[in-house]
Amino acid sequence: MNIASHSFFKDAEPSTSVALQVERDLREAIISLSLKPGARLSEQEIADQLRVSRQPVREALIALARANLVEVRPKRGTIVVKISARKMMEARFVRESIETAVVRRACESFDPWVRVTIDENLVRQRAACAASDYTAFRKEDERFHIAIAHGAGCGLAWDVIADIKAHVDRVCNLQLRKAESMPRLIAQHEKIVEAIDSCNAESAAAAMHAHLTSILVDLPAIAAGNPDLFE
Ligand SMILES: [Zn+2]
Repeated sequence: MNIASHSFFKDAEPSTSVALQVERDLREAIISLSLKPGARLSEQEIADQLRVSRQPVREALIALARANLVEVRPKRGTIVVKISARKMMEARFVRESIETAVVRRACESFDPWVRVTIDENLVRQRAACAASDYTAFRKEDERFHIAIAHGAGCGLAWDVIADIKAHVDRVCNLQLRKAESMPRLIAQHEKIVEAIDSCNAESAAAAMHAHLTSILVDLPAIAAGNPDLFE
């Protein structure tokens, strides 16, 4: 178990509570699959690795259990839940419903300052793709979607889907390991931006739908190739 390498402690804001920082570190370790589905978690081991006391670790695990990412089993301890194809498809559906609505709104008005950051974000996505760095790509992908929500004036939408999207993220992480995935996703992102720039709500919603549906095409092969990670 290696959580410390994902640590947000170094760049966390001083006001962020220790428990929240531990939760972020664990969430990232789960999503990146450093903590494998089915892995048993030890409060003491996590506390030692992150150099914190057990109390914030316990609080973080409770929050992650609420988000259905870990399961607390009486007498057997806490384990990372296996990937559920059904839960992943439900989460994907909710995410798509919200993000297609957000992108329609982005076509009505979009913050020009946020728009500039999206071009920079796309440059970083291409760099991550060129370096075959799928972890960096996944983070830029997340920033891309957050920026669209903020630019459209509904950053709250992202907060709403943060918990449920973790179920999709682990599958996306496996999808990104396929060589052809990153260029395809970047092309889809560019199409979404083009539609926002031309204020074409129909085409933006269609582009977002196509983007967030593509995972379904890959899901059967991903599940078949990683049977130990799925329930
Ligand atoms: Zn994306």
